Amino acid sequence: MNPDFDYALEQDRKDLLASYRSRFHIPKTEKGEDTIYFCGNSLGLMPVTAESYVMQELEDWKIHGVEGHTRARNPWVSYHELLTHPMAEVVGALPHEVVVMNSLTVNLHLLMVSFYRPDRGRYKILIDYSPFPSDRYAVESQVKYHGFDPADAIIELNPDPQSEYVSPAGIAEILDRQGEEIALVMIGGVNYYTGQAYDIREITRLAHRKGCVVGFDLAHAAGNLRLSLHDDGPDFAAWCSYKYLNSGPGALSGIFVHDRHKSDFSLPRFTGWWGHDKKVRFLMGRDFIPMEGAEGWQLSNPPILSMAAMRASLDIFAEVGMDALRQKSEKLTAWLESLIKAKVSDKVRIITPSDPDQRGCQLSLQVSDKKLFHTITAKGIIADWREPDVIRVAPVPLYNSFTEVWKFVDILASCEV
Ligand SMILES: *Cc1c(COP(=O)(O)O)cnc(C)c1O
Repeated sequence: MNPDFDYALEQDRKDLLASYRSRFHIPKTEKGEDTIYFCGNSLGLMPVTAESYVMQELEDWKIHGVEGHTRARNPWVSYHELLTHPMAEVVGALPHEVVVMNSLTVNLHLLMVSFYRPDRGRYKILIDYSPFPSDRYAVESQVKYHGFDPADAIIELNPDPQSEYVSPAGIAEILDRQGEEIALVMIGGVNYYTGQAYDIREITRLAHRKGCVVGFDLAHAAGNLRLSLHDDGPDFAAWCSYKYLNSGPGALSGIFVHDRHKSDFSLPRFTGWWGHDKKVRFLMGRDFIPMEGAEGWQLSNPPILSMAAMRASLDIFAEVGMDALRQKSEKLTAWLESLIKAKVSDKVRIITPSDPDQRGCQLSLQVSDKKLFHTITAKGIIADWREPDVIRVAPVPLYNSFTEVWKFVDILASCEV
């Protein structure tokens, strides 16, 4: 008799997405059993079809050489366009607002070139609480590049003392006090450490009211939350695709540039031939003619093999849709939360908000001893450790199950530390 386990089995039976697990390769333990893979927030699992999608491009390269640009089954010249529509669906954008290119930090820089335009009066950047290091480095270097001092120009959000979370009221307060000096608000969609999801629409509204430009780093939000970037209205966003978007290690990044900027060619930008009007790109003319929309930010012809793997993954997203994904995700994470609170609250403390609107699938668990992480790892759980004292676990709705969540908490409960 185990009512919790029975409940998990029942949920898995009823789960409309249960069959999608078999569309991914699940890493095995040494004994050949499936690991409990709760690390899709760091590197998403490989879609089974990724292999044939990549092989097809290798074969077309083998057969056609350079002529693959036009003669491959999916001609390489326009290959990135195959990704635009499904990616736009994932983030709730219009197709011309989105393009896949480069990697995330590179894109943050390129977008800041266009959207961080400081002057003497307005030069500050408001960033996330405890941001991902790369974002902080990128922002600091941009500030210095424009001749300002990061210690003065960068303002970091703070959690409210009572709730421990960043609140729109807290953001509003900073904007009320310093809004006229803030050139750019650039924060995460979901904080990588705490797992808190921010209200993109509200933050955009507050920042725009003060005349600030707003951008989001959606590394932990894309493929995790239901996003509506076009309607929410930030100026720009960027995200990587190797986390929830399962596109493979180091896979390409997506960018979003809001429709309102689509033909604003007065924005400074760093340019390359792939951003040039594609109708006349191969005339190899002297003068740069940017494309409208996000495509105009492209620099280089992109890596086809990497995009092929991404296409395999985005096909799955297009089939499932973010609504169904998010519905399961909320249930799965709520199940994890309730079991943790009931069974292992002496061992771990959840620092991620309990409100489903303020989190994605990840829960961050604060522990008193790192040994616990090593112990669960030895027992076939793949999660990750973030200094100083947090284990991040992300049950991903595409390939994780309710019984895995149950097993995870059962293993935690059995640990000595
Ligand atoms: C994963 C992640 C990155 C990684 O940047 P890359 O340029 O893809 O290496 C940057 N920022 C955030 C917030 C992330 O979560």
